[in-house]
Amino acid sequence: MNIALIAHNEKKPIIINFALAYKHVLEKHNLFATGTTGQMISDETGLSIHKFQSGPLGGDQQIGAMIANNEMDMVIFFRDPLTAQPHEPDVSALIRLCDVHQIPLATNISSAEIFIHGLNRGDMDWRKVLKERRDKEV
Ligand code: PGA
Repeated sequence: MNIALIAHNEKKPIIINFALAYKHVLEKHNLFATGTTGQMISDETGLSIHKFQSGPLGGDQQIGAMIANNEMDMVIFFRDPLTAQPHEPDVSALIRLCDVHQIPLATNISSAEIFIHGLNRGDMDWRKVLKERRDKEV
């Protein structure tokens, strides 16, 4: 599965702890992240992560493009609801695209933990079947 990890600055310590706690699950998947989040997680956990631009420089939109192309299976995005973000339109667009394409989106650690357990027990495997079917059609 392709999984996106994003955290606003106030939430970066939480996503690092989350990635440490669930490294054994995350390492079985392809990980993508906005620039700073990705760098911090890979430094702290050793996980291999494809890093896009930093969020305010377009990283959220790059992840959005993957969602629009049906290339992202899950988004874990610890947003900070108490701080104004210069790239708020990009944040809203990313959340909107998850809803457009029915991609699971966890915006806080409580939901992310449920997602990660579901992922580990195969709740998202239907996406693999869908992809295989699509690949055959092409
Ligand atoms: P960052 O971007 O990981 O580069 O800090 C996250 C965001 O603010 O969207």
